[in-house]
Amino acid sequence: MTQQKTLFPLHAPILVPISGTEDKYPVSRIFCVGRNYEAHAKEMGVAVDREAPFYFTKAADTYVPSGSTVQYPPGTSNYHYEMELVLAIGRDAFQVEEAEALEYVYGYACGLDMTRRDLQLAAREQRRPWDLGKDFEQSAVMSEIVPVSQCGHLSTGAIELRVNGQTKQSSDLSLLIHAVPALIAHLSGYYHLKAGDLIYTGTPEGVGPVVSGDHIQGSISGLGDIELKVA
Ligand code: MN
Repeated sequence: MTQQKTLFPLHAPILVPISGTEDKYPVSRIFCVGRNYEAHAKEMGVAVDREAPFYFTKAADTYVPSGSTVQYPPGTSNYHYEMELVLAIGRDAFQVEEAEALEYVYGYACGLDMTRRDLQLAAREQRRPWDLGKDFEQSAVMSEIVPVSQCGHLSTGAIELRVNGQTKQSSDLSLLIHAVPALIAHLSGYYHLKAGDLIYTGTPEGVGPVVSGDHIQGSISGLGDIELKVA
């Protein structure tokens, strides 16, 4: 067999720590749900669509582990946090019924959907895609993944975020408009979801800016914590 040569070295796989084991979770795709808490949709000045969720994506290599220090990103002067529950798909899921959807979840994590809000809103205004505002380097922050075998399924519980010790976001997972089973059922109607796919489920109200030197700490009851420093 001839050895395959690549023009440059293969990209390193994106590996997320898993609670309680040395095994890693290799990331394939990152889907993010928009406006999935009513009070957040309201603060963004947009009506909630209860009929169907909508999504945007981030490249897998935007992943940053919790505990990191990130540089303030280029091209923005309104860099925001969004505290979110993340679910990790554990096996192939295509056209899954809501009643069976939880069987496809491997585990859960705390996530920060970091956002260049000024660029996102400018794109929204012009009816353009959100990529510059959402899909940028170091924008998908995540804690270790906790397997369902350890944390069970999460449908209620406090979701909170503090900046420099001051509470900015405080809500409850029960207020998700489209809960985890509904998201998997809906998204799997459009994609062949597979192990390695992550879904950021959306942020509650209280989003806001951070600046250099800020320390972000988030938590989800029954799951764990996440933190990020801005250099
Ligand atoms: Mn978000």
